Amino acid sequence: MNERYSRQMLFQPIGPSGQQKLSNSRVVIVGMGALGTVLANHMVRAGIGYVRIIDRDYVEWSNLQRQMLYEESDAQGMVPKAEAAAARLRLINREITIDAHVADLNSWNAEELLGGTDLILDGSDNFGVRFLINDVAVKHNIPWIYGGAVSTRGVSQTIIPGKTPCLRCLFGDASGQTNTDTCDTIGVLGPIIHVIASRQSIEALKWLTGNESAMDLRLWQTDLWTNQAGSIDTSTAKNADCLTCARHQFDFLEQSVSGNWTQSLCGRNSVQVNPPLSSNIDLEQFEQIWKALGETERNPFLLRLHLPEHITLVLFKDGRLLVQGTSDLLRARSLYSRYVGN
Ligand SMILES: [Zn+2]
Repeated sequence: MNERYSRQMLFQPIGPSGQQKLSNSRVVIVGMGALGTVLANHMVRAGIGYVRIIDRDYVEWSNLQRQMLYEESDAQGMVPKAEAAAARLRLINREITIDAHVADLNSWNAEELLGGTDLILDGSDNFGVRFLINDVAVKHNIPWIYGGAVSTRGVSQTIIPGKTPCLRCLFGDASGQTNTDTCDTIGVLGPIIHVIASRQSIEALKWLTGNESAMDLRLWQTDLWTNQAGSIDTSTAKNADCLTCARHQFDFLEQSVSGNWTQSLCGRNSVQVNPPLSSNIDLEQFEQIWKALGETERNPFLLRLHLPEHITLVLFKDGRLLVQGTSDLLRARSLYSRYVGN
């Protein structure tokens, strides 16, 4: 082992053998937003041998206040977060593998995108994705660490299949988890992100180095503004009859493809339209057609078209269309067939 990790190896519970375990570890991070960028920063600097990152969005100006891996040029160039983050992470540590995916995690790709890893870290911003992670984690026996932050409040919980309660044990059905408070409606301050993602990261390091006995398997929450923090023992929430972890009924993973066709992005006045089948779009060809319809911008990863009535279309290479300026699913779907086709 080289000097890079010397301070980490001096910490006795990790030591050279723990460092070796980290370098043999494979971690996937879902979402490269605020939590995800801090998680990735920690994992990459700590020397996790393989880090897979997944994000469907591109960098916007409102991200720079807290999403620590991005720069103004990323927002200016509308660079997909997974690509911008990967480029930065490779500058931080070229000795490890960074596997970037510009993709929307959904029921038909979740097993492929999350599988073959030792640990899943949650940097997502909604319960739909978290329940999907939970299904894959339980089905494939992969531990995962839930994290969430909004305003100045945050929460984290490690979920080890077969040992701790799963997300469904803790929160019941996802339908009850309609978040009205999101960072897009009530805001979020940078420091809470670092606190929560750092909690997730230290638990990840404990797990990956075989220091399970040091882990906090309770639900931890804090509010940095009102100066409160504490843990709740959730062990009794483990439900012997849980549909997911007891009966192995993976409802979120087995959702029909059609159910995922359109998705309203909470608090953002945007709808994402997923293509019926994943495709490889020729953005240059679309630009030739679209530039007659309005102002367009294109980079290697996406094409943007500004339409009247404050509607903006963002087409990604994988065929996804982001319709900004409406939360009307039917309207978004009709714009998809009109401008992208079937
Ligand atoms: Zn459960």
